[in-house]
Amino acid sequence: MCHPAATLETATFRGDDASCLVEASLACRVCLSGAIDWSLRVEHWDHEVVCRCRDCGDERVVSLTGDQALRLALAPPRR
Ligand SMILES: [Zn+2]
Repeated sequence: MCHPAATLETATFRGDDASCLVEASLACRVCLSGAIDWSLRVEHWDHEVVCRCRDCGDERVVSLTGDQALRLALAPPRR
């Protein structure tokens, strides 16, 4: 699937934020559901998380900093 870079969001949580803030950052922007299937995508210089809403099926890609990717990899919020 391709996604234009212009629509790429940037995640807002910090590497040491509480889980609820991490979850809120991944939550669906369309229906505000927190039931998200997400998967981390780490490439050479890019870290992204692909979020798919279980309620409305909306899918989006959120760009992450290294800290944020590390946080999701080491201390993921509940899925
Ligand atoms: Zn949704």
